[in-house]
Amino acid sequence: MSYYDFDLFVIGGGSGGVRAARVAANMGKRVGIAEEYRLGGTCVIRGCVPKKLMMYASEFSEHFTASKGFGWTIKDIEFSWSTFINAQKKEIKRLEGLYRTSIANSHAKILESRAELIDPHTVKIINTNEKITAKNIIIATGASPNKNEYVKGSELCITSNDVFELEKQPQSILIEGGGYIALEFASIFSGLGTEVTIVYRGNEFLPQFDQSIRQEISNSFAHRNIKFITQTTITEVTQATNNELEVQLSNGTSVKVDQVLCAIGRVPNTKNLGLENANIECDYKGAIKVDKYCRTSQDHIFALGDVTNIAQLTPVAIHQAMCVVETLYKDNPTCPDYELIPTAVFTQPEIGVVGLSEEQAVQKYKELDIYRAHFRPMKATLSGSIEKTLMKMIVHAETQRIVGVHIWGGGAAEMIQLITIALKMGAKKSDFDQTMALHPTSAEELVTTYTPSYKIREGVII
Ligand SMILES: Cc1cc2nc3c(=O)[nH]c(=O)nc-3n(C[C@H](O)[C@H](O)[C@H](O)COP(=O)(O)OP(=O)(O)OC[C@H]3O[C@@H](n4cnc5c(N)ncnc54)[C@H](O)[C@@H]3O)c2cc1C
Repeated sequence: MSYYDFDLFVIGGGSGGVRAARVAANMGKRVGIAEEYRLGGTCVIRGCVPKKLMMYASEFSEHFTASKGFGWTIKDIEFSWSTFINAQKKEIKRLEGLYRTSIANSHAKILESRAELIDPHTVKIINTNEKITAKNIIIATGASPNKNEYVKGSELCITSNDVFELEKQPQSILIEGGGYIALEFASIFSGLGTEVTIVYRGNEFLPQFDQSIRQEISNSFAHRNIKFITQTTITEVTQATNNELEVQLSNGTSVKVDQVLCAIGRVPNTKNLGLENANIECDYKGAIKVDKYCRTSQDHIFALGDVTNIAQLTPVAIHQAMCVVETLYKDNPTCPDYELIPTAVFTQPEIGVVGLSEEQAVQKYKELDIYRAHFRPMKATLSGSIEKTLMKMIVHAETQRIVGVHIWGGGAAEMIQLITIALKMGAKKSDFDQTMALHPTSAEELVTTYTPSYKIREGVII
């Protein structure tokens, strides 16, 4: 029988890698985990967590404005970027420390270095040149922002990795992209008082989302003075003055801004990882190909999280990690379940989505009933905000199963998490109808909208 240094070696100390390492080590397995940057990975260090903290900071401006309608007078409002960034950095450091402690407590060995495969059972620890063997390996190296290096002057642009390190708040920013990261930063910077322009190559933001939600976001951005230019890309960026960049756009115009943020997708971290030394296959986008158990083309090597490009979300990486541990160590082969992944976009207001969009549902079902509630939330009556809340439920007419819920409005993310439980249990429209409303809330619309707004039969609205 071969002897290995570790039962399990994990490359990448982010959401998925840390979970797999910690749980396996807690089961008594000999586990090593390599991290080349900071423990906690994208989510903790430069993704979900700092972004949400920044969103909280940004939301205050709207609260201050709204408070006037409720009788408040607030004087001398000022935002200090450096105070916020320093507080945020402290919190991220604290979380990183918690990750480190939890791994250490599980007795997994942390190697603070890049690791690369040199054969199917051996990884090289780059900082020390050590060669470590493992019976099983998990690749959880995540993904990195695509910076579009083909564009002239791309080195002058920043990505989401840099936003949390900016020493100064930009007075103006141009964001390229139409996905959730681009929109969230547009909303955040706008709330903080930065002048925002978004440039997007497509027609409408969030291409995979329900059309009605996409419409709301465009209306809201217009109302918030976030400039957006669609069907356009950046063609060149040059340094105009010490502080200003000049951005040439494919529509022939140019814009001068303090910063240019590229949010045009994320590329799986598979380059120079030594995958060829272990015969691990990638798809055309560079994502590691896995089977339904997250197994790569090598039986003993698994890959999970963003590096597989299945659904680039923290809970998905964590869920995959738990499934791999079940498969490897509990004699219980388990496939991750990708049905009904709830999603939020933390714009202001938020978007919360679970299940199919109307466009996707039409492809799948012949008969659909659509329930919509589009209303002014109670808070807006006194705050003076003209923004409305939208709740849309897509129901398969024959079975009455709810196949999609889409919310645009305050608290959408929190609502959609709970609705996902109901949908996971196979909720029918009648279950919602029989649920007592909680008044006064926005969420009560979900259980009090009894009549379909319209029906779709064989793809035709009736
Ligand atoms: C701005 C932003 C906002 C986001 N917001 C959300 C959100 O609100 N909700 C949500 O669910 N998801 C969000 N995400 C996505 C989420 O962060 C990722 O899906 C999640 O972190 C993926 O986890 P992972 O374990 O696959 O990879 P990661 O967390 O990226 O971890 C991979 C780790 O591997 C390390 N690494 C890479 N190569 C090597 C190597 N060769 N050797 C050693 N270490 C290596 C990296 O340094 C990194 O720490 C956001 C992402 C971004 C960028």
